[in-house]
Amino acid sequence: MKTMTCNQLGGACDKEFHANTFDEIEKMRKNHGMEMFQKGDEPHLNAMNKMRDLMTTPDAMNKWFESKRKEFDALPENE
Ligand SMILES: [Zn+2]
Repeated sequence: MKTMTCNQLGGACDKEFHANTFDEIEKMRKNHGMEMFQKGDEPHLNAMNKMRDLMTTPDAMNKWFESKRKEFDALPENE
């Protein structure tokens, strides 16, 4: 298992996600983001807007995901 926080994944809080693969953690981040979006949590809404500005092209989006995937891969395994 590896751990990344909401902040590390382009979010806006210290919530930790634990997963074995990047795809899993990305799914958790997405669910958490949706939850916060529905609550109208302002820091998360701002973070989402920032992400949207970053991801204007599929290429930019891929690059972001690849950099996060590398970050995830470089993390040490939790016992
Ligand atoms: Zn969060």
